[in-house]
Amino acid sequence: MTYPTQPKASHFINGAYVEDTAGTPIDVIYPATGKKIAQVHAATPAVIDHALSSARNAQAAWAALTGTERGRILRRAADIMRERNHDLSVLETFDTGKPYQETSEVDATSGADALEYFGGMAATLTGEHIQLGEDWVYTRREALGVCVGIGAWNYPTQIACWKGAPALTCGNTMVFKPSETTPLCALKVAEILHEAGVPAGVYNVVQGMGEVGAALITDDRVDKVSLTGSVPTGRKVYAAAAAGIKHVTMELGGKSPLIIFDDADVENAVSGAILGNFYSSGQVCSNGTRVFVHKNIKEAFLARLSERLAGAVIGDPQDPETSFGPMVSERQLGIVEGYIAKGQVEGARLVYGGNRIKDDGFYIEPTVFADVTDDMSIAREEIFGPVMAVLDFEDEADVMTRANATDFGLAAGVFTRDLTRAHRVAAGFEAGTCFINSYNDAPVEAPFGGSKLSGVGRENSKAAIAHYSQLKSVYVRMGDLEAPF
Ligand code: NDP
Repeated sequence: MTYPTQPKASHFINGAYVEDTAGTPIDVIYPATGKKIAQVHAATPAVIDHALSSARNAQAAWAALTGTERGRILRRAADIMRERNHDLSVLETFDTGKPYQETSEVDATSGADALEYFGGMAATLTGEHIQLGEDWVYTRREALGVCVGIGAWNYPTQIACWKGAPALTCGNTMVFKPSETTPLCALKVAEILHEAGVPAGVYNVVQGMGEVGAALITDDRVDKVSLTGSVPTGRKVYAAAAAGIKHVTMELGGKSPLIIFDDADVENAVSGAILGNFYSSGQVCSNGTRVFVHKNIKEAFLARLSERLAGAVIGDPQDPETSFGPMVSERQLGIVEGYIAKGQVEGARLVYGGNRIKDDGFYIEPTVFADVTDDMSIAREEIFGPVMAVLDFEDEADVMTRANATDFGLAAGVFTRDLTRAHRVAAGFEAGTCFINSYNDAPVEAPFGGSKLSGVGRENSKAAIAHYSQLKSVYVRMGDLEAPF
């Protein structure tokens, strides 16, 4: 397929594409073939300075628009994204290797949802009035200023929008740095925002590796940092932001539990386990990779799971029939192969997959281990690939203790037909995002984020507004003011 994957230039700053070939070249590799499909250059200090000064200069005028005006522009951008869903999905598939069957449903569309939802909310942002006898206080909900967004490689369009939409709604400007592995999609988001009427400098994209992110975070012109990435990167970014007392949102990794009781609908539970482990070839932060299955239904669950996995269509991700694509990179493939080897060495029973599939492209089979114990590496560490660990349990209290025995706290799920148990278990989970008889739904209306090491703050929903704005409180005295002398 011929498709224009090479962007017009590496960066989008102050309303225009910008190039500086002095920056380190970054090859963009199509995960399905291992072939180079584009090249961008990392931002040089001059490019970073240009982006930050543009964002700073544009912020006051953008914040001075009414919410209705800002919202109208963002909703227009949402419409354009939906109109271009096909092209954006093809590009997302080239950038990430995720099947078009997925990208055409959940990437640009979920970005558009965020632009539409927050755009619709922009006009409703208000402070409050607090009466104090004759006097009173009013609060103003104000922008933070310049926000830096730093993205992971698994959802490049979605992350660019999930951070940009609430930030811009609140009157902030943004400099977004995509992962160096998937640099293409965020440029399209910037282009569309600009076309919809977002003024120059309000949403900028710069490319680069971690050091570009680090340079952005430590700059005095930046007021907030929102990262989607791993826990080790989160620690570094959080610490760097702390030095400047900057606001942060951290969407980090997970090793989430999915508990399947013996009264569950097994077919639905298998669907939940598939969605929570193999969508996007397992490269989803909230995945329920520790699947606790009640001993009474374990063999039935494994048998049906294997049957269903045999129906996965593995192949060219641009083919709409393909339902399972490659890993994003050779590096990530190597990490996954390493964990599969560890699972076998540490004594887990391989019940499905485990093999690399093709020589070209970074493909590995959906893989299931059973008889996994809590201490095994595949049960403790985030793999970020299509490797499911199935663990046995018999008792609710015991499985809850085991489910929560992790430093992560991003997501958790339960399958049961027992209503009170479902809510009791959801209340007991130490996780920010929970599912009952479902897995990995992420509607823009619902808060998304983690507890414990999995993060700080929430994306999406009304809750995101609190993380992209600050309250100013204004005391108004109506009478004379007394002082001691
Ligand atoms: P990384 O943590 O490796 O990178 C995330 C981003 O941070 C990249 O853009 C990276 O740049 C940048 N970065 C790296 N070092 C620094 C630094 N010192 N200062 C500033 N920026 C830096 O994550 P991956 O891209 O490998 O993504 C996978 C991880 O993301 C998984 O752990 C996953 O769980 C998590 N994730 C969390 C989600 C959530 O919402 N909770 C959603 C999706 C993923 P570069 O890579 O270009 O060097």
